[in-house]
Amino acid sequence: MKNHKCLPKWSPRVRRDKIKHMYQLDAQGILDEELINQVAYAFYARCKSVLTVTKASRGRVECPECGNIIPRRGHDKEQLLKCDNCPWHITWGEYFKSYHRKQLHGGGAVDVFEDYIKRFPAAKTLQDKMILMDWIIHECHKGLIEGECNRPVAVNLISGNMTQVIELLEELAYGSDSISSEELHNTWCVRLNEAMRRWGMRSK
Ligand SMILES: [Zn+2]
Repeated sequence: MKNHKCLPKWSPRVRRDKIKHMYQLDAQGILDEELINQVAYAFYARCKSVLTVTKASRGRVECPECGNIIPRRGHDKEQLLKCDNCPWHITWGEYFKSYHRKQLHGGGAVDVFEDYIKRFPAAKTLQDKMILMDWIIHECHKGLIEGECNRPVAVNLISGNMTQVIELLEELAYGSDSISSEELHNTWCVRLNEAMRRWGMRSK
């Protein structure tokens, strides 16, 4: 018999080594289809998890079985969350524990995760996907360099501790010894401008 008390499943943060490898290949003019699709989807799945948790923390819990929204009242951990649409049920305490301390709360950056999900289906080619990822990685970097501590996008999305994540983002933005840093920096800037321009056009 199916267990109707199953915990929601959260997608992991995107692996730093995969992101780095993808950009190293890209700098050499190689678009690795499998890797690009994998990383692009990993960002997508993680954004979904972050949005679901953020919504739940604000009182709207999504049933992991059927997607129905279950309103939560107050913060009582014993409170039973029961889906109206299917047999799924769980206590708020159990649900909360499933995401607590996993960097899944989107804070003030919900728009970033929503935008990625919205734009993902339209990113058909590998280039489109790279531009979309450049954009979200830039949002990660921006959140750190501008000290927007209520928008810790990088912490939500990329694996590793703060120092490791900052190291990766700085490397992507300014280049590293392992590849031509000037070339990487130029590529990054061109891409970023392109992504911003596209985004500006699309968001009208
Ligand atoms: Zn349900």
